[in-house]
Amino acid sequence: MQTTIYEIAGKRVWVAGHRGMVGSALMRRLASEDCELVTADRESVDLRRQQETEDWLAEMKPDLVYLAAAKVGGILANRDRPGEFLYDNLMIEANVMEVARRTGVGKLVVLGSSCIYPKFAPQPIAEDALLTGPLEPTNEWYAVAKIAGIKMAQAYRQQYGCDFICLQPANLYGPNDNFDPASSHVIAALLRRFHEARISGAAEVTVWGTGTPRREFLHVDDLAHACVFLTKRYSAFDIVNIGTGEDISISDLANAIAQTVGYNGAISFDPSKPDGTPRKLLDVTRLNAMGWDAGIALVDGLRAYYGDFLDGALIGESAFGR
Ligand code: GDP
Repeated sequence: MQTTIYEIAGKRVWVAGHRGMVGSALMRRLASEDCELVTADRESVDLRRQQETEDWLAEMKPDLVYLAAAKVGGILANRDRPGEFLYDNLMIEANVMEVARRTGVGKLVVLGSSCIYPKFAPQPIAEDALLTGPLEPTNEWYAVAKIAGIKMAQAYRQQYGCDFICLQPANLYGPNDNFDPASSHVIAALLRRFHEARISGAAEVTVWGTGTPRREFLHVDDLAHACVFLTKRYSAFDIVNIGTGEDISISDLANAIAQTVGYNGAISFDPSKPDGTPRKLLDVTRLNAMGWDAGIALVDGLRAYYGDFLDGALIGESAFGR
């Protein structure tokens, strides 16, 4: 177990993107740290605008920043809105990192994604697979922006000595997820679809793609827990994967979700929808060696997620106190 090298206690902490799934999980997790949390509303600060970002950071002067603000979306949104995914994410990262450097932010945690890795990376995917092969075309725009963010953080560490660290989570789910069928990720999409099918008594539910791709799912409270753990214990150039170390096929996931919501009808697959990367399982050896393991099993996470969904309470509270 590594020792603490950075104290969060007593610090002023800005979670950029605090209303999103990752940002709100970080807010919940940081509430139990003895720090001052500051947030910027999207209406008052547009992080795609450098001057607005600079004015806000110069005024708030945070010591620690979590860069969880991003344009995100599922496989179709990524494929259909490449310009937005590239522009918004590049601008947000470049503005926040440059202004953080200029205003003397002490530590910055950059959140990325497992989609930065090559489409056919050896599994499980180790951190050094980055930039060793072509990306998955359905999300290459988002991935290129996220890779640029990693490179910027590394360049700033190298040139200016900035303590910027880059963490790459597996596919995420949890409170504050997006349930819009056109842009949601698979768990939110299927939970909603199976739930609606159970209510309406539909005989069949269709799942996109062939059902054969495999994904690793991490509850966002586990991610927030790992982020705080690494903030305190990690400061280096190399990126770090965050995951559970286990993956599941989309067809098994569909069955697990059907069971969670109590849907007993048929499940069919629509191969005209994209499958995306065949497999995305992260190698979490580096993280585990530092003393951190995921604590929320998928079956428990799904059950809590559905409970929140039924309560209409997917905003704010989480069932997990991680
Ligand atoms: P990805 O990891 O970037 O591919 O993220 P997604 O969560 O969007 O998709 C994961 C996998 O789930 C892909 O193989 C999708 O084809 C599959 N999938 C099955 N049904 C759905 C659905 O209704 N929505 C989404 N977004 N993906 C689905």
